[in-house]
Amino acid sequence: MTEKLTVSQCQRLKELNAPEELINVVFETREERNESYRTSEMKLVRKNKELIFELLDNEKMPMMCQIENKLIKWLTDREGFTKVTTPIIISSKMLEKMTIDENHPLHKQVFWLDPKRCLRPMHAPNLYTVMRDLHKVTNQPVKIFESGPCFRKETQGANHMNEFTMLNLVELASVEEGMQMERLVELAKSAMDAIGLVDYELVTESSEVYGETIDIVHNGIELASGAYGPHVLDEHWGIFNTWVGIGFGLERITMAVEGYQNIKRAGRSLSYINGARLNI
Ligand code: ATP
Ligand code: MG
Repeated sequence: MTEKLTVSQCQRLKELNAPEELINVVFETREERNESYRTSEMKLVRKNKELIFELLDNEKMPMMCQIENKLIKWLTDREGFTKVTTPIIISSKMLEKMTIDENHPLHKQVFWLDPKRCLRPMHAPNLYTVMRDLHKVTNQPVKIFESGPCFRKETQGANHMNEFTMLNLVELASVEEGMQMERLVELAKSAMDAIGLVDYELVTESSEVYGETIDIVHNGIELASGAYGPHVLDEHWGIFNTWVGIGFGLERITMAVEGYQNIKRAGRSLSYINGARLNI
């Protein structure tokens, strides 16, 4: 007879961020299994506790915020970008300008407050608006980024949350026509350098919404998506120059950096803090 961990034992070990090998291990007897479970659970609880003390005594800031700060520092100190803060509540008109109307698949994923207002599922509509207006005022290249919550109704799973944090950078009129893809790749690589992530690949894809896009992928999981223009959407926003932009999922990047199995560990939570389980 071989014995596997029970459902609740698996559940508990997963909560404590046990590696897959520990969860799939097979035992000869129940006693052996239970003994092994108790030892593993104890070790993992200790590790989670250490993480909490590390946060409270030294780090003072969850890993996701540290990663966000590294990206912000890279953008503002080295790349000349400026941070903007725009509304989380946006109008249906803004989404329609992104072609997200009632027939669009993303429409069903949007959290509507009433028929005319919703929680932003992305930064693009606000960034389009702000970069257009800044360009009108300055008549110079515009480099801005926003970092903050976005909301999408998702079927959940290990890589999606209903509320997540996106850092979206965008440059307008900064490169000549034909150089956009090169600049996108440069920015993507430089961003990964800034957070010290080396194990990733850049995947170029053709997208119906954005034409050609570039994704940053780690272990098969998309960490970020980049796109560039001129683009068919641009005229809705009064944009007529080249642009490049990348949206980074900060929880996904935190998962990649910390080796988390589940995104919940990285995001806004009452069950986890800095990747450690709170009920230990
Ligand atoms: P996916 O195909 O994985 O659902 P997406 O292509 O719809 O993602 P984008 O619109 O490209 O996502 O958003 C940019 C980044 O934001 C993604 O690369 C990802 O890191 C992150 N992201 C998107 N949706 C979610 C979500 N529901 N939860 C956590 N992160 C997300
Ligand atoms: Mg994407």
